[in-house]
Amino acid sequence: MKIAIYWYRNDLRLIDNPAFSLAAKSCDFLLPVYVHDKKLDATNQWNFLRVGEHRRAFLNESLQDLRLQLINLGSNLLELAGDTRVVLEKFRREHGIEQIFCEKIEAPEELDVIQDLIDLGFDVKSIWQSSMLDPQALPFNCNELPNVFTQFRQQIEKQRLRFTAPIESTGPIPPIPNLQNSNDLKFNFVSKNFGKLFEGGEDAANEHMRQYFDRRLVDSYKETRNRLMGIDNSSKFSPWLAHGCISAKSIAMRLCDYEKQYCANDGTYWLWFELLWRDYFRFLHIKYGNRLYQSKGLSQEVANLFDEKSFLQWTTGTTGVRLVDAGMRELLKTGFLSNRMRQIVASFWIYEMNGNWQAGAAWFESQLIDYDVYSNQGNWLYIAGKGTDPRGGRAFNLTKQANEHDPDGVYQNMWLND
Ligand code: FAD
Repeated sequence: MKIAIYWYRNDLRLIDNPAFSLAAKSCDFLLPVYVHDKKLDATNQWNFLRVGEHRRAFLNESLQDLRLQLINLGSNLLELAGDTRVVLEKFRREHGIEQIFCEKIEAPEELDVIQDLIDLGFDVKSIWQSSMLDPQALPFNCNELPNVFTQFRQQIEKQRLRFTAPIESTGPIPPIPNLQNSNDLKFNFVSKNFGKLFEGGEDAANEHMRQYFDRRLVDSYKETRNRLMGIDNSSKFSPWLAHGCISAKSIAMRLCDYEKQYCANDGTYWLWFELLWRDYFRFLHIKYGNRLYQSKGLSQEVANLFDEKSFLQWTTGTTGVRLVDAGMRELLKTGFLSNRMRQIVASFWIYEMNGNWQAGAAWFESQLIDYDVYSNQGNWLYIAGKGTDPRGGRAFNLTKQANEHDPDGVYQNMWLND
């Protein structure tokens, strides 16, 4: 009798989840588990919570949705809390389950947990599944990934690669095992709703995708993606992608179908182009690993020193610079920020306030509803000039940005008068 745990990480979905499908095919009993790791409830070295309230709410909704789906299919979702290694080890001792299936996350902290579980004696099968293109589909080994995004993209386009097809369906899900003391196990965490911009969960993700393409918003993506406000302007797929409520492959396939139906245009190309950036930062992690997490990144220079007072001004939106303050207040209030505003506030922190880029990245980790370890680290490295970009860092000219993107001050007034 084969019994296994499916450990959900950033892949809170049933559709196109190869790791979960493999688990379902490989055992007689399967226990889907999510662990609320205690280190994410703690404060970081800069003294703030690693997961803020917006992301927490979105996560809880996504888990709620996943649980309901699993229950409808005769399974369930067990939520555990504590140190992942400790709670899973306790579980192994008490219930004798040794096999764990999960998605592979190529970031240092996430890889360490897997290694620790293996060292504890678990048989762990972790499967890569978060990119639009599978690493094996690339025309080069990830260790030879071009350091310049344009070169990477050109090689992908030369091979006419668009995306790796999502898997067809998960098939039947094995029942959960009958565990001793199962009454002690919590199958239900209470979700808190903080009044949000986005609704978590696979159902909401698919509905969002349906509406986005049905309303043909993608046609104007190229012209509108850089706007500072407006729910319809960029795709807003990121919160669901970050929690894995939908896969990048599913979005790319829908995009391809859309092109077949209506014809490709600048909007459809640019949406694919941005999803390719997302992949690029993933593959960069496979290539460089821990080096991306050092203070100097891939450069020769370490980060600026951390200054608590200026950090407080930046995070609370009280620097006195209107555009930056508006952005930081929006982030605090909603957990979301347009790509352009992310670039502006990050650049301001690093180059005008001489801020420490790692503290900035940690603040985004805490606040962003769509925090994604690869995209966040990759973008901060890029702006700080500590990644692979040969042009060095990205210092934005604030006056130029305000004139171009908020000439009448509508965005600034909205958040500063709030
Ligand atoms: P769209 O413009 O509609 O793009 C479609 C999708 O492409 C996005 O959902 C996202 O998955 C991907 N994408 C777009 N731009 C980028 C990019 N520059 N890098 C990687 N992927 C991209 N994105 C995150 O998902 N999580 C993060 O933690 C994150 N941190 C960032 C930190 C900084 C300093 C900066 C400058 C950017 C960061 N981004 C991050 C990238 C980008 O800002 C967001 O993906 C985007 O704003 C999300 O809105 P959207 O879904 O409407 O994007």
